[in-house]
Amino acid sequence: MQDFKNCRGRLMPNESLAPYTSWRVGGPADFVYIPADLADVSNFLQQLPQQVPLLWLGLGSNTLVRDGGIEGVAIITQGALIEMNHDDPLVIRAEAGISCAQLARHTARLGLTGIEFLAGIPGTVGGALAMNAGCYGGETWQHVVKVETIDRQGKRQERSAADFEVAYRHVKRPENEWFAAGYFQLNNGEKSQSLEKIKTLLEKRNMAQPTSWPNGGSVFRNPPGDYAARLIEQSGLKGKAIGKARVSEKHANFIINEGEAKAKDIETLIAQVASTVEEKQGIKLIPEVCIIGKNQ
Ligand SMILES: Cc1cc2nc3c(=O)[nH]c(=O)nc-3n(C[C@H](O)[C@H](O)[C@H](O)COP(=O)(O)OP(=O)(O)OC[C@H]3O[C@@H](n4cnc5c(N)ncnc54)[C@H](O)[C@@H]3O)c2cc1C
Repeated sequence: MQDFKNCRGRLMPNESLAPYTSWRVGGPADFVYIPADLADVSNFLQQLPQQVPLLWLGLGSNTLVRDGGIEGVAIITQGALIEMNHDDPLVIRAEAGISCAQLARHTARLGLTGIEFLAGIPGTVGGALAMNAGCYGGETWQHVVKVETIDRQGKRQERSAADFEVAYRHVKRPENEWFAAGYFQLNNGEKSQSLEKIKTLLEKRNMAQPTSWPNGGSVFRNPPGDYAARLIEQSGLKGKAIGKARVSEKHANFIINEGEAKAKDIETLIAQVASTVEEKQGIKLIPEVCIIGKNQ
């Protein structure tokens, strides 16, 4: 890779992506780039040859990277694109690398209500925008007024929410354009009530989810009118394991890494769960997690 002029971030060759994902598995990226800030990522992209494949990762909490890793550059936003400020008193701008939990707590402490649900999603603002993350009745894009994007040439622009096709855990965005920041509409609320809501929500999650093992959250989307977890449990798959990857006993739509699982174990288990559910329940489950990279 050439020298990049005036880049203030960190460029790391042959860097394992496992520490950058919540499943803690996966091979290396040819290069990982951790930008210093938005201006820096823009400068980096202006100089990155157009043919180099590019991946953006937040907290990697919805991503399974295969054991052979990925070609090209992975830009990591967590801990990098982390500015938060106000557009107007009821609209907060949060950059892509801010964690959803930080954003939810920050707005709650300001006495602003509406996005407390984000506290339970272990991803970044960029990942939440890309996935339309949601839980307990709330969805990210219900609160988005506009976003800032950055394209493959490093050009930054603002787009209104209406420019995006948004559905359940799905957002269609212009090709070769990524989220740099989101603007969230909030309402005046009561600080203590919002913080209490967050506390209750986190307690509920801790009861229902296998928080002590690395995992990728819900593996499959819920089919219309039903729950993937119910279908998996009814198919007798709770506890099924391949290598060190296991269908959680606590929440059947979670696959946990019990130690040294390979991405291959997890991917094979995902395929087996899907085929067994289809065979026994007649319903085709669609993965919610993004599976990327090469096999070893
Ligand atoms: C324990 C656990 C619980 C979870 N609970 C929920 C839940 O209740 N509801 C829910 O919706 N999800 C849940 N998830 C899944 C996950 O947290 C969300 O999908 C989250 O929004 C992913 O954010 P991330 O930053 O980790 O994204 P990543 O995994 O880093 O990325 C996900 C996708 O978004 C893309 N992406 C990342 N950043 C950007 C960007 N800046 N611009 C464009 N594309 C980008 C990536 O390329 C990838 O395709 C859970 C996961 C875990 C591990």
